[in-house]
Amino acid sequence: MHSDLYRCRVCGLEQDDPPWGEDGLVPTFEICVCCGSEFGYEDATLAGVLRKRAAWLAAGAKWESPRFKPDGWDLNSQLDCIPIAYRK
Ligand SMILES: [Zn+2]
Repeated sequence: MHSDLYRCRVCGLEQDDPPWGEDGLVPTFEICVCCGSEFGYEDATLAGVLRKRAAWLAAGAKWESPRFKPDGWDLNSQLDCIPIAYRK
């Protein structure tokens, strides 16, 4: 799905550019400002995504770059946006 291409596989945050490119195959190696995942590294496999997400949630779901955190941010709404193939 197109919209899934713009979402972090780990935390579901919408990104300005697709983390794995327009074809979903070539990672940008950018860092998610929310969960801190590096696209192409922690999110390269389903197991890696689930491991990183569990660790991020266990640590309190903190923003890697808090200045990007919107007012009224809702964790569960964002988790609902995780690409379907990377949900548990
Ligand atoms: Zn993320």
